[in-house]
Amino acid sequence: MDCIFCKIINKEVPSHLVYEDEILKIFLDINPATNGECLIVPKNHFKTIMELDNETNEHILKIEKKLYLIFKEKLGCDGMTIMQNNDYGQEVPHFHIHLVPRYNKDMFRTTSDKDLLVDFENIINQLND
Ligand code: AMP
Ligand code: ZN
Repeated sequence: MDCIFCKIINKEVPSHLVYEDEILKIFLDINPATNGECLIVPKNHFKTIMELDNETNEHILKIEKKLYLIFKEKLGCDGMTIMQNNDYGQEVPHFHIHLVPRYNKDMFRTTSDKDLLVDFENIINQLND
């Protein structure tokens, strides 16, 4: 399959490895938003959160918590932003999670100055159904 992340997982393309086990591989983002940004990539090829199974998700959560502690200690970061794109905005169509170590006064933006445009009441009702 012509997938850059599958190729990294299969070692056909090099990466800066952070961690690897039987379920996932973590490597540095080639174009980091902040020092130490890395990507958690499940070894199974699938595209979006819709295909993510609970077992893999639980494993990822465990690793995220461990890495956060290590990042704080080793990188001296002040926080960590975890994000994940699905379909629109997703450059690589192999599911992955961005771990972005955050530093006081870094320029990474997670907020916008736009007003909320839609009334979410109906959507919230559906979630509670
Ligand atoms: P997304 O837009 O959420 O799909 O993010 C894709 C991410 O993969 C971007 O942050 C890229 O910088 C990163 N990326 C693309 N190719 C590579 C690569 N060969 N090695 C490491 N990171 C990569
Ligand atoms: Zn893939």
